[in-house]
Amino acid sequence: MGSPAGIRAADAIVVGAGPNGLAAAVILARAGLAVRVIEGAPTVGGGCRTQELTLPGFQHDVCSAVHPLAASSPFFQTIDLAALGATLRTPKVAFAHPLDGGRAAYVAGSVEETAGGLGADGPSYRRLLGPLVRDAPHTLPEILTPIGRSVPGHPLALARFGRDGVLPATRLARRFKTEEARGLLAGVAAHAMLPLSAPGTGGFGLTLTMIAHAVGWPLVEGGSARLIDALVAELTSLGGQVETGRWVRSLDSLPPARAVLLDVTPRQLAAMAGGSIPGWQGKALARFRYGPGVCKVDWALSGPVPWEAAPCREAGTVHLGGTLAEVARSEEEVNAGQHAERPYCLVAQPGVVDPTRAPAGQHTLWGYCHVPSGSDVDMSGRIEEQIERFAPGFRDLILARSVRTATDMERYNPNYVGGDINSGAGTLAQTFCRPTPRWNPYKTPLTGVYLCGASTAPGGGVHGMCGNGAARAALADLGVKTPR
Ligand SMILES: Cc1cc2nc3c(=O)[nH]c(=O)nc-3n(C[C@H](O)[C@H](O)[C@H](O)COP(=O)(O)OP(=O)(O)OC[C@H]3O[C@@H](n4cnc5c(N)ncnc54)[C@H](O)[C@@H]3O)c2cc1C
Repeated sequence: MGSPAGIRAADAIVVGAGPNGLAAAVILARAGLAVRVIEGAPTVGGGCRTQELTLPGFQHDVCSAVHPLAASSPFFQTIDLAALGATLRTPKVAFAHPLDGGRAAYVAGSVEETAGGLGADGPSYRRLLGPLVRDAPHTLPEILTPIGRSVPGHPLALARFGRDGVLPATRLARRFKTEEARGLLAGVAAHAMLPLSAPGTGGFGLTLTMIAHAVGWPLVEGGSARLIDALVAELTSLGGQVETGRWVRSLDSLPPARAVLLDVTPRQLAAMAGGSIPGWQGKALARFRYGPGVCKVDWALSGPVPWEAAPCREAGTVHLGGTLAEVARSEEEVNAGQHAERPYCLVAQPGVVDPTRAPAGQHTLWGYCHVPSGSDVDMSGRIEEQIERFAPGFRDLILARSVRTATDMERYNPNYVGGDINSGAGTLAQTFCRPTPRWNPYKTPLTGVYLCGASTAPGGGVHGMCGNGAARAALADLGVKTPR
């Protein structure tokens, strides 16, 4: 296929304009390469788009909404987001976890402030999170880069994190006695999409909580798509080019380039390479495991959610599901291939910090629950039941809703295999070796071809660090000096 008019020959081609594809393109362009990004969908952004999914004037984040990972990402710190039109708005309460009877636990501000709200578990929280948050400026950049690729700059801090981080959330929760603190930990650890008895789920919860204290859990004014607009602006200012509406089915269809970076998962890499990848790494890529899916719901509301517990009304994110035992059961069921009757749900309320998302006085609400891979079950009724449980009267506010099942998710973006929003299970093995046990996780056995999406280290989320790592691997192979 020839280049469309106006598109020049490229040193590097990036397939997929998600946050990682664009991050890779920015790093390559900063190093002086002519970069061309090819995106299959009609618009750029991948899991970071904003659209009027329900009613005119209601701007919904189609996928990612809450950005602790962007806020703490070394890559995003090199982009002047505010100057490029992306303003992060940080809610007072990062995340809240309601329990029956109008109770709630929450993470807000400092470790001290949060411990103060946890009653009898305040001292345990202070002991667990205090040292981790103190070390966060050293450990977070290391957690967000491939583990083991370089000598850690702060081995003691990393070891301290690792000692607790490898534990299952259910085990870590034994440090607490109250339902509030145990529920709080379960809610944040369940982002892992694994049974809470799985090793490493404690680490998921601790990392996200550390970030909440270190930089907060911001949302983007106007919607997550503004982050993508900022990356595209940075890229085009460096001469990079972006083409949309062209799905790449085969590597042979790409114009010649010195490096090809693919913002896709191992499954699509194999298809693009003609069915299989040679050698041991090909076998390892074929064994790459995908996690459960999600069923996502967006609502247009006539007012704010009437949460019984006050902290939930100020929280950007609310974790629903009740006690640790209930959340653990929900995640257990999903990972065993069942749909939870009372699902653990993640809910984000942009209106807490961003009145621009909906007409005056009205609100958008974003939420999802985990479901078995490939599910086509509409879980909106069960999700609304959980919201209503902690916010009686919620249903009366619904003006419109948009639902995407796990199969819809994969149809929307082929990287969400079976509806897996992280493009690969976050098991401990796939945290250390993502996607395969290789020193450089971005290289493939195909010369000049790299994986740069969320199936590589450090995994899912809008942080751009997979793209950053893959671009640096490609530049090293090309013998081009890497930018700072
Ligand atoms: C419902 C949902 C909620 C989420 N919530 C959050 C959140 O709150 N915070 C957070 O940090 N993360 C969240 N995530 C995860 C986050 O969106 C992803 O981990 C992130 O977008 C991954 O970025 P990526 O660039 O690796 O891939 P993607 O964002 O998936 O982008 C890949 C791009 O490549 C394109 N593409 C794929 N194959 C081809 C092909 N063959 N040819 C051409 N183009 C192709 C796709 O169309 C897509 O645009 C959420 C995801 C979902 C789905």
